[in-house]
Amino acid sequence: MKLHERTAHDLLDLLKDGQTTPAEIHRSVLGQINEHDDKVHAYLRVNPAESADYSGTQPIPIAIKDNMCMEDLETTCASQILKGFRSPYDATVIRKLKESGAVLIGNTNMDEFAFGSSTENSSSGVTRNPWGLDRVPGGSSGGSAAAVAANEAIWAIGSDTGGSIRQPAAFCGVVGLKPTYGRVSRYGLIAFASSLDQIGPFTKDVTDSALLLNIIAGHDPLDSTSADVPVPDYTRALVNDVKGLKIGMPREYFVDGMDPEVKAAIEQVKTVLQDKGATFVDVSLPHTEYAVATYYIVGTAEASSNLARFDGVQYGQRRRPAETRKNPLVDMYEETRDAGFGPETKRRIILGTYSLSSGYYDAYYLRALKVRTLIKNDLEKAFEQVDAIITPTSPTTAFKIGERSADPLAMYLSDIFTIPANLSGMPAVSMPCGFSGEGLPIGLQIVTKAFDEEMLFRVAYTYEQNTDWHTKRVEL
Ligand code: GLN
Repeated sequence: MKLHERTAHDLLDLLKDGQTTPAEIHRSVLGQINEHDDKVHAYLRVNPAESADYSGTQPIPIAIKDNMCMEDLETTCASQILKGFRSPYDATVIRKLKESGAVLIGNTNMDEFAFGSSTENSSSGVTRNPWGLDRVPGGSSGGSAAAVAANEAIWAIGSDTGGSIRQPAAFCGVVGLKPTYGRVSRYGLIAFASSLDQIGPFTKDVTDSALLLNIIAGHDPLDSTSADVPVPDYTRALVNDVKGLKIGMPREYFVDGMDPEVKAAIEQVKTVLQDKGATFVDVSLPHTEYAVATYYIVGTAEASSNLARFDGVQYGQRRRPAETRKNPLVDMYEETRDAGFGPETKRRIILGTYSLSSGYYDAYYLRALKVRTLIKNDLEKAFEQVDAIITPTSPTTAFKIGERSADPLAMYLSDIFTIPANLSGMPAVSMPCGFSGEGLPIGLQIVTKAFDEEMLFRVAYTYEQNTDWHTKRVEL
């Protein structure tokens, strides 16, 4: 196997034995980017090789979603409005990565401001799915998922507000973890919906996911919503044993419109885990049908407020209209936001502003907050009976580029399985569990109680050790 095709834990072993060097690994990854990224377009920008520092303990090349503030490179959220923006500080996650010795390769493409499920809403062009170049990589962290799947990064960082790590991980056949809300500091993550956003790892296997979470997790005084809960060594949770565990498959999740191949793959997961001694329990999450509506009210409301700062004064490239329309200040705001934001971003700002406006606030936003609590209660009740819940990550495999861009509702509805973990704050992982007849990856989602990433890793690791999906590498 070539160096860029390996996992981080594999490379760390090779480094320890003196069989390779950090510079050699870095060159191998950059070579892959040079050769293939014109097809995949996972990256928006790549750091020059000369700037790398190989002196740290874990000098593993990593790709970063373009919504985390970095001193070294622009941070644009794939938006025209932030073109040229240079953060004066590093996000906490970036600082922690640097302290671990990570080699920051560059920034990956995404849906503008993380609004989307396909990376088609980027202002810098689409990213293609390495498993089928006519397919989307998922979104919004599509660039990070595609970079790992295409072996153009050993691992990567993304953010997940409604599924943006897990769904692209499923579409690209890699492991994507959304930690518990508060587990990883959001300081320096450009906010979409502050009560839902979490940063997490994309990796080639479950062991790497635990290693990368070890690096980025932990309380941060700079993020008041980060939790002051001790961080265990997650690699200790990598136990190949689910004997005696109870696992739930929510009946509401096997919805109409689910791809039969996805359904069959999840049934197969059940067999594997049963063979290893887990017991399956029927659980019910009755408020699931309201999850998408609730998310798109809460998420857009918070987004409309968070994006107010991009006005050409506080942040954002300022534009002035050729002639005065209302008054120079209002004209400038309008021109800046009209030229700087793409169509989906405008749609989200309008939806969010609407549900927060007086007269509609109680009917939409406040009601959505109440339903959010009901959805969380459903999950908490289920976890009184089971240790983990398994579901498909997405009802389908990767769809074709352009297929859903004209139908935002179809795009929103496909987030049904990932959204509940964000609304409830619970951790969830997506990992490969098969391929469709067309050769496209299928994703398994595992959800556990808040701050029980250890249980998540245990179930995920057991499944992985008894299957070989994680060993498959794409041919580009
Ligand atoms: N697909 C969801 C959305 O469009 C999730 C995005 C995300 O998690 N950032 O809102």
